[in-house]
Order: sequence, then structure tokens, then C-alpha cells
Amino acid sequence: MNIERHEYDVVVIGAGGAGLRAAIEARQQGKRTAIVCKSLFGKAHTVMAEGGAAAAMGNVNPDDNWMVHFRDTMRGGKFLNNWRMAELHAKEAPDRVWELEAWGALFDRTKDGKISQRNFGGHEYPRLAHVGDRTGLEMIRTLQQRVVALQQEDYEQHGDYEAYIKVFQECTVTRLLKDGDRISGAFGYWRETGSFVLFDAPAVVLATGGIGKSYVVTSNSWEYTGDGHALALLAGASLINMEFIQFHPTGMVWPPSVRGILVTESVRGDGGVLRNSEGERFMFKYIPEVFKDKYATTEEEADRWYTDQANNRRPPELLPRDEVARAINAEVKAGRGSPQGGVYLDVSTRLPAEEIKRRLPSMHHQFKELADVDITAEPMQVGPTCHYIMGGVEVDADTGGASVPGLFAAGEVSGGMHGSNRLGGNSLSDLLVFGRRAGAGAAAYVDALPARPKVDQAQVDSARAEAMAPLERSGENPYEVHHELQRTMNELVGIIRKSEEISEALQVVEKLKERVQLVGAGGSRIYNPGWHLALDLRNMILVSECVAKAALLREESRGGHTRDDHPGMRPEWRRKLLVCSTEDGGSIVVEEQEQPAMRDDLISLFDRDELSKYLTDEEMDEFDRIAK
Ligand code: FAD
Repeated sequence: MNIERHEYDVVVIGAGGAGLRAAIEARQQGKRTAIVCKSLFGKAHTVMAEGGAAAAMGNVNPDDNWMVHFRDTMRGGKFLNNWRMAELHAKEAPDRVWELEAWGALFDRTKDGKISQRNFGGHEYPRLAHVGDRTGLEMIRTLQQRVVALQQEDYEQHGDYEAYIKVFQECTVTRLLKDGDRISGAFGYWRETGSFVLFDAPAVVLATGGIGKSYVVTSNSWEYTGDGHALALLAGASLINMEFIQFHPTGMVWPPSVRGILVTESVRGDGGVLRNSEGERFMFKYIPEVFKDKYATTEEEADRWYTDQANNRRPPELLPRDEVARAINAEVKAGRGSPQGGVYLDVSTRLPAEEIKRRLPSMHHQFKELADVDITAEPMQVGPTCHYIMGGVEVDADTGGASVPGLFAAGEVSGGMHGSNRLGGNSLSDLLVFGRRAGAGAAAYVDALPARPKVDQAQVDSARAEAMAPLERSGENPYEVHHELQRTMNELVGIIRKSEEISEALQVVEKLKERVQLVGAGGSRIYNPGWHLALDLRNMILVSECVAKAALLREESRGGHTRDDHPGMRPEWRRKLLVCSTEDGGSIVVEEQEQPAMRDDLISLFDRDELSKYLTDEEMDEFDRIAK
């Protein structure tokens, strides 16, 4: 059977911020580059990002610099981050934001005309470059505009707009292909027609985003089915940090049809406060020991901070997300929740109505349209929602290269950068920094290849047979299997976890693995969402198994992994990475791996007192030796 075939140097899977930045880089390095995305071009998840991109430009507070940003990122990730990634990210994010501006992004400005920066949880200084609460939209628009500019250059030179960079939209990749141990291409299908398509390429960059659709309550869109995570696993790469999932503290809780939709952290960054049903501003009760000296302990000090940051500590509403999410969860469990099972987030009594509409236009619109709530006049009801996965493909920090030669990853699909918990705003900057690096890494890899790997027809035939299988049987309903998976993950491997519940989830996942082999999709290949879901289920189940198995093994609570039966961080777990892999899509194996010790000049950026809260006694002895 003939399958549509395309040859490229680099195939980038995903057209969000990471994918577009990687593709731009690969093309700028002279590589023929394909961008493949399963949604419409411009509809990637990045478009939903609201608050901004974190970069220590020092525009609003000149004391900010890459070292402060590095420290905040490591603290936010509870010191489990890949420190080299955190270093590169903090150093390079400002250049990437200025580059976006040079390509046409119109950021909000300070009074003296610089790119404005806003406050966000866990960031010591105002650091998020933003465009109102629609930053992701501007980022995608700008990157797309850059792709078009490059295509125009290519037209001038080669008479063909798509000579060096071409977009394949509404096209889902289901398998990566290999020649021996190297990547040789990717196999997928057009969502509209169901026809198959083959990309013959020596380098593939995964930029497929996250996994949120494995959970019922999520801020993530339909695209987030863990495809890149699963494609990497099935190609022989490993995933790290999969137990760490960020539950954003503020998702909408009402009406049920919109439960989980994000309420941006900018609401708190711009002055919004959290209250329980008794009217108490409860976050003061939940400042953990490790953050005690950095957060205000009275409402008066917290409020003064908005106008005088030099002499006051930050409000506890701006603690890292994992802390705020757990606090909300505890208030609701203690019976102090709102009628619909959340808590109150109030900006209406904190800012004038016009100011709210100016700073938070999307939030104003979202609540008015979806919940008939006017946020300039009444509080919102909010609760935790599955938002982001810190875990992902284990990559080399400098090049984005995975353990499989020819495979690269960037953005939410990659792991390491954010440790056990991501700070808000650090994703958009991560996409730009590591998207660029992965594009460059892929280009350099192609340049150094002695010979182009060959596509193996047997692998193509088997990928095709795998994709056709759900159409050839009429067994389990994909929507029911999906719902059971989502419910299981939400209830048993959610924000608060315990051993028996995770084990129960793993038993359900085992059964779902059998059921997914029987899933059938009626109808033809022409735009058939049931078939698409049947194919996505393989990925969601694989990823869920990784999350649950790693969550069971990590016997401590850190960042986005809270174990009711193992409260508190254990220093001996800080440098342990849990690495997931699989052979031929069988069971997931999780192994411990030690993370390299932080470089001396980086660890010296922290105070001894702070480090002693995270490091083992042996590590502290080593620190004292360096400090001498
Ligand atoms: P995405 O932008 O999701 O792109 C993934 C791409 O992969 C898409 O094009 C998709 O079609 C494609 N794809 C997936 N699977 C396949 C497949 N099998 N075949 C082909 N294509 C595929 N972060 C911040 O830093 N600041 C913020 O203010 C912020 N706000 C947010 C608000 C919301 C509501 C949400 C949900 C997240 C927010 N985040 C924010 C997080 C941030 O937006 C994401 O982490 C980030 O956009 C992910 O970008 P990405 O490039 O990795 O993936």
C-alpha cells in the first residue's frame, strides 16, 4: 500500500511555543524542517497561557538577575531540578524574550517604555513579561509570524515558500521509526481524512506538551494526551520525574461543564486574595517552615508589599503553587469551602473595576460568559485543577537530546528543568530557551551524521496495522475507557496520595491496558473522533502507569507529589530521580538514578541555613568544605 511520504532533515512534532522555536532554529541552521501538529496551526496549548514568561530582565526591579531567578526556580522545584537546565534557563530567558520582541511581540510596557514585568508565585521580584492576560497568544502569533518571514525569505531564494519549512496541521503522529538504535522518521495520520503519512527524517524533536487529559479536572485542552511522552517511551527513551504533577490552585469549580478551566495566577499577583467560607484569609496558616522568612505573616504587611516590595515580605497567596493547592484542599476538607466545593478568590474588593478589566480582561470575560459572575463585583469560586506535568523525556540540558540518537525534546514534554514543582511563568520561558536549544541540537546532530538512517518498511506496516486495529473491531467504547482512567487518576493519584490508593489505581490501569486492546471505533477513517481517542488511549494509559508507579515508589512529599502516608521531604530522596522505561510497550519499569551534585559555583549562591533544610548531612559537610 502506498503511503504519502515526505523527506526532511528535522521533523518537529508540535507547534506550541517549544515546537515553533525549535523549528525556527533548525531552519535558521539551514535544515529542511517539518512542523507537524495535531490541532490547527495556532491552536496549540501555548495559546492559552495567560500570565506571562519569566525572565530576569530587571525592568521593574533592577535587583533582579539570573542568579535570583535560578535560586527561585530551584526553591520552587524543591532542589530536585536539573540544575544545569535551571541555570541555562535563568541565564538565557531574557535574550529569548528580547528576541521575541525583535520579531514583533508587543509586550505591555512600564511607564518608562520597557517591557513590563508582573509578580507571580515563588518569584522574588516582578519577572513575568506579559501581554495583559493573553501572553501565550502573543507568543504564538509572533513565532508564527517568524515562520512566515522565513518562508518569505525562502521564496525569494528558492521560488518556493515551503522549501525549507512546512507546516502539516491536523496531522497526528502515532509512532517514531528507527534504523537500528537511531531515529529514522515518524508515522502518523491526517485527522480529517484518516490517510496515513510518513516522515522520513534523521532527527525528530518532540514538543507535544503535557498529559492533563488523563485527569477529569484539568486546565488542559483535548490535545494533552501524553503523546510525546509515550512516543519517546516506545522508541526506547526514558522519562523522569513522572510522579510530579502540578495541580494549579485556582481552577473554576462552577458550573460543572467548565470545572478545571484555569483562573490565572495573575489574579493573585495583581492583588487578589483567598478566603474561606468564614471570610478568613487563610493562607497565613499554611506558610511552610522552608519559606517562613520570605512571606508576610500579617495582612497589613502582605498588603504593604504590593506598593513597597523592598521593605515588606510577599503575601502568602503567592507561595509556590503546590503549597497553595494543598492549602485550598485542606480548607475544603475541613468544611470551610464554598458552596460548590472551592474557596473564594477575591479581587473585587482589592482593585477598582476599571483596573480589573484592564489587567485581567480574559478573566473578566471568562467568568461573565461561563459562570455569569462579574469579578469586579463579587469573588470567584476556585479549586485545584491538574495543570502541568513536571516529568517528561530525560534530555541532555544543553542540546535537548534524549538517550535515543536523533530524538530531541523540549517544552512540557521534557523533564528535569522544573524539578518537583514548576514556578508560574517558567514554562513560557522554558519553551523559548530549550526549544531553541533542541532545534540547534537536532541540526548539529544531522550535520554530524555519517549516513542518513533508512526507514524500515516493516515498522511502517506495523504502525499502520496498529492504527487500523480499532476500526477493525467493535469492542470496548473508547469514551468509557477514557472516563474510567480519568476518574481513577483524579481520585487515586491526585493531589493527595497514599500507598493503598496508588496500588488500587495501578490495578485499574492493568485492567484498562487489557480493555484498550479491545477498544473499537465504529465508522470510517474520515474525521472520526472515536478512532482518534482510541489511538490516544494507548498514550494516556502508558503515561498514567508511569505516574502511578513512580508515585508509589517515592516515599516522601515534595512539590507536586504529596503522600499522606509519607508527609514531609526526606533529604535522601532529593537527588533520587525515578526513571521510567518500557520494552516494546510492555509494562513500565521504574528505576532509581542519582542526579549529579550541583556545581560548586551554583550551590554557593545559596545560604547555608536554607540548604540545610533540603540537603543530607553528608551533602552539608561537602558544602562546608566548598565554602571554606
Ligand atoms: P503545546 O503548546 O501544548 O503544544 C503541543 C503541540 O503538540 C500542539 O501543536 C499539538 O497539536 C501537538 N501535538 C501533540 N501531540 C501530537 C501528536 N501525536 N502528533 C502531532 N502533534 C501533536 N505557562 C507559563 O509559563 N505562563 C503562563 O502564563 C501559563 N499559563 C497557562 C494557562 C493555561 C490555561 C494553561 C493550560 C497552561 C499555562 N501555562 C503557562 C503552561 C504553558 O502554557 C504550557 O506548559 C506550554 O504552553 C506548553 O507548551 P509546549 O510547546 O510544550 O506544548
